[in-house]
Amino acid sequence: MRPAIIVHGGAGRLRGEDVGRRLEVLREAADKGYEIMARGGSALDAVVEAVVVLEDSGLFNAGLGSALTFDGVAELDAGVMDGEGLIGAVAAVRRVKNPVVLARRVAELTDHVLLVGEGAERLARILGLEVPEEVLVTREKLERLRELKARWARGEDYTWLAKLRKLAEEHPGYFGTVGAAAVDREGRVAAATSTGGYWLKLRGRVGDTPIPGAGFYALRGVGACSATGIGEYIIRFSLCRAVCELMAKGLPAEQAAREAISRMSAELGEGLAGVVAVDANGGVGYAFNTEAMTVAYRAAGMERAAALAPRKADQRATA
Ligand code: ASP
Repeated sequence: MRPAIIVHGGAGRLRGEDVGRRLEVLREAADKGYEIMARGGSALDAVVEAVVVLEDSGLFNAGLGSALTFDGVAELDAGVMDGEGLIGAVAAVRRVKNPVVLARRVAELTDHVLLVGEGAERLARILGLEVPEEVLVTREKLERLRELKARWARGEDYTWLAKLRKLAEEHPGYFGTVGAAAVDREGRVAAATSTGGYWLKLRGRVGDTPIPGAGFYALRGVGACSATGIGEYIIRFSLCRAVCELMAKGLPAEQAAREAISRMSAELGEGLAGVVAVDANGGVGYAFNTEAMTVAYRAAGMERAAALAPRKADQRATA
């Protein structure tokens, strides 16, 4: 069996300036994951290492590039799961550059699925995964936060959840979570997702990313999925679980992704989310109901990963 991997750099609006660079890094991440599996490595290794590339790039809202909370701290979430029984996640960690690695360690070293805040950081410290807070809360980001807040303050009444969707529309590049889904040569599937949440979120807020079935999910012999978008809605819909259940009924990854997103649009509205998925046959797929999404994938017969930034209109054209 040939391996396959698909990665994403978030769904939402595209910020013009660095789309090219983002696509290059996405391609690099997909190639890295693919090559790990081509050498006999597992889908789990592939998705974790692909997400580490994206976290370390600083170009996405995950790892080094993570957004700040309303009061100026970085609280990162990540989750990882494979079809072999491994599942781990961390939420609201402040001093961890690669939360996806810590999520994996939660699965491997503890009896728990999800560790949050200080407890998760304590594990990170023991494992040497801790970084100084300034690595994630840079002067540049604090400046951006000030700008976002000022824009927010001009003319908006602050009612957090009711305004959430509007907020997302008004701030280009608002979402930029990263994730990966892969199937390896032995047919094992895995998914991983990592995020800084979104700008101006309240401290202590946890999104879909570390919630199994919402931001990530994998089913043995079926497929795996990673999501991005407004976490509060993705949790309500259990988006990745929905995609995996459709694949369990026999839909290839691409159709399952489209069907789940179209059901989510019908139930909760447009502009909310995107997913990437693989099925156990080596098929890859993505779908979104936001303005755009960035993805890269590599499947059987491809010399190199392909990276693209489809817009909603393109998606309709090929649906
Ligand atoms: N899903 C993430 C969250 O709500 C945000 C994103 O996808 O960028 O935390």
